[in-house]
Amino acid sequence: MAGIYIHIPFCKQACSYCDFHFSTKLSNKQNVLAAIEKELEFRTNYIGTEVVETIYFGGGTPSLLSQSEIQAILKKVNDVYTVSKSAEITLEANPDDLTMAKLKELKQTSVNRLSVGVQSFFEKDLKFMNRAHNAEEAIQSIRNAKEVGFANISIDLIFGSQTTSNEMWQQNLDTFFDLEVNHLSAYSLTVEEKTALAHQVAKGKVENVDDEKNYHQYLMLQGAIKENDFEQYELSNYCKNEAYSKHNTSYWQNKKYLGVGPSAHSFDGVSRQWNVRNNTLYINGINNNKPFFEKEELSEIDRYHEYLITSLRTKWGINKSTVENDFSDYIIEHFNKRSNLINKSIVDLSANFLKIKPEFLFQSDEVVRELMVDFEAQNLN
Ligand code: SF4
Repeated sequence: MAGIYIHIPFCKQACSYCDFHFSTKLSNKQNVLAAIEKELEFRTNYIGTEVVETIYFGGGTPSLLSQSEIQAILKKVNDVYTVSKSAEITLEANPDDLTMAKLKELKQTSVNRLSVGVQSFFEKDLKFMNRAHNAEEAIQSIRNAKEVGFANISIDLIFGSQTTSNEMWQQNLDTFFDLEVNHLSAYSLTVEEKTALAHQVAKGKVENVDDEKNYHQYLMLQGAIKENDFEQYELSNYCKNEAYSKHNTSYWQNKKYLGVGPSAHSFDGVSRQWNVRNNTLYINGINNNKPFFEKEELSEIDRYHEYLITSLRTKWGINKSTVENDFSDYIIEHFNKRSNLINKSIVDLSANFLKIKPEFLFQSDEVVRELMVDFEAQNLN
């Protein structure tokens, strides 16, 4: 079982907080799409005979693609890979693209899940973040998507922004639940290096994010999901009736995935590789058979650390059998010793699992650090 991630590196405008790879110049879109199809063709060995269970168009803004562009990529995937008939096919979309006409076209493709970058239902937040859509489009896009028959819809929201008061965050949550979709991804705003927001903070034009407010709004979210029968299955992901994102869940369960397109990452269990974050270099690399990615083989300690980081963010936590089956005696002994030292008010520790309690998932990094193999031990190993 494997997944395919397709990075569409184009956006209408740059959101102030964003550090993903994208370009606002669409002039070489056709060349990038042609290169993505070529990459899909010549990297079939990466997945081998495994059945593709999930396909994810991320970005950037994949909803900038036309129906025929999406269909051409999906045709290529189907021509060169074995795709499950029940595959989850997700497209990230921005509200300003999701007109009725566009959604009707999307419904003609095999895309069966939308992840909509709403971020906030307030004009004030959207302007601060330099989003391309307005508050009215945020709501209307979801209504439109439901009306044309998309049943699997995820909404992205951001909390902790400098412009988002607690009252506004509560209203955002209320609006989300009123829209009756089955999945929410909620992230706290972080100031990433080299973004417009980082620049504004460095110049003193904008205050830095407030950790206390962030945590308070995270706890408000915890309350709201319980009241509305949603389940938190990952630090930033919530759903109703087990509508988990299969694609993202496979990342957290360390399953194999192929990433194509500029900046896309791939993982095959023993190594990670990542494509160049530059559209021109990517196109040239693909077309002229030049290197377009870097690769890192993972040591056992790297694999153990990745397992900690990904699994401790989820409701399933660390499966002790996985530690016992996939790692050497040295790691097993280290894990058993350290896990017994962790504060039991933060984690649930049973014979089979170690999980962080939901209200403490926000601090999962601290638990990860306690379970990591420290630097001196790495050198001895
Ligand atoms: S639309 Fe998404 S990828 Fe594009 S700039 Fe905004 S946050 Fe980044």
